[in-house]
Amino acid sequence: MNRIARRALALLLLTFALLFGLCFFLWEYVTQAGQWVMHPGSPHVYDEGRLASGILTDRSGEPLLDLSGGRTYHADPLTRRSTLHWLGDREGNISTPLYSHYALTMTGYDLVNGLYHYGSQPAQMRLTLSVQAQNAALEAMDGRKGTIAVYNYKTGALLCAVSTPTFDPNNVPDIAGDTTGAYEGAYLNRFLQVSYVPGSIFKIVTLSAALDSVPDILDRTFTCTGVYEMEGGEVTCERAHGEQDLKTAFANSCNCAFAQVMELLGGETLERYVKQLGILEPVSFDGFTSESGNFDIRNAAPVQIAWSGIGQHKDLINPCRYLSFVGAVANGGTGVLPHLVDGVELGGREVYTARTQREDRILSTQLARMIQEYMRNNVASNYGDENFPGLTVCAKSGTGEVGSERRPNAMFTGFVMDEEYPLAFFVAVEDGGYGSQVCVPIISQVLAVCKEVLDADPF
Ligand SMILES: [Zn+2]
Repeated sequence: MNRIARRALALLLLTFALLFGLCFFLWEYVTQAGQWVMHPGSPHVYDEGRLASGILTDRSGEPLLDLSGGRTYHADPLTRRSTLHWLGDREGNISTPLYSHYALTMTGYDLVNGLYHYGSQPAQMRLTLSVQAQNAALEAMDGRKGTIAVYNYKTGALLCAVSTPTFDPNNVPDIAGDTTGAYEGAYLNRFLQVSYVPGSIFKIVTLSAALDSVPDILDRTFTCTGVYEMEGGEVTCERAHGEQDLKTAFANSCNCAFAQVMELLGGETLERYVKQLGILEPVSFDGFTSESGNFDIRNAAPVQIAWSGIGQHKDLINPCRYLSFVGAVANGGTGVLPHLVDGVELGGREVYTARTQREDRILSTQLARMIQEYMRNNVASNYGDENFPGLTVCAKSGTGEVGSERRPNAMFTGFVMDEEYPLAFFVAVEDGGYGSQVCVPIISQVLAVCKEVLDADPF
């Protein structure tokens, strides 16, 4: 090979090396540039590792938080407290993934122009929450611990999701030094990060399984004397409910009747429905992921299996997941995932718009209708329609026993059937006592405000 040929070959190899390097760089640029820009050390985007520009508003455009200049929260202390678990505090004790999840969108980043829009005008993130509903929920909780959530079961938009105890980020109390227990778990978002013993709201699951898989269940009656003896122990009610059909037993929330339903059903069948209905699965939206639930009947005696169908034994449910399950019942058997961010606007342009995310069908339309009817009967015959003026409400209460030394958790969940108010709700009040007594007045106030919110703006 002569000298010229050798040089040509060397040049060719160099050209290949250059092309390879260029391709590698382009690939890295396209796949990684967003992350480089969003690196917490990037001074264009972050201030001490936190997103430093953007305004978060409620659904009507009411500003809740301005991220620039060290964070400016709402002027009203009640609003600051009711929205804290979604906006986060200055110290980062309540972290919210909203900012990192939407950081690229908020800064207007794109591959061609980079941070071209950045700095001209802050992005505006519109949440689905209503300030009025948040504040009504916080006031209705009246210092008790727990969570209240209401969402639109057709679109997934969360109108209200409050976690208590909460605090004012502009006037932070001494939480670490608190000995009264008033701020116990104040940093937790109880809607997402907690799983509760469900008590009798779990009977919605057991009812679904029984209606779907026990052929003659509607022809049967169940007698309650107040105590039902089983292998390994007994199941009890607060009073003797007498002879009831399934619908009345559900309205009475009769434990003895549901123990008999569990004997017909069997633990393994219930476990299959628990899986099919997805009630143990975590929910993910807008960068958040909820806690999982629990259902475990391994090595359980018949009486324990019965209690597992009554929402005790080892049962645990997460409020966010259970809300979406009840939403699926309301929506005819297919649920939609909740979401919190409605849209992001930058420079007068909508750069992100939430889309409704449907989940797989968990119930047939026919079965969903039956459960709706049963839950409707609970309110009409038991909880009282007068508590929900102008609304057709379906619901189930629960009293989750958490041990002899503490009062039980009061639970209440359900939905509104009216076409113009497609709302599902979930309430948990820790140490609250008896489910419906505690929760009905709370959800009554919150639903009344949500109705007004939808009357003003039906999205
Ligand atoms: Zn009973």
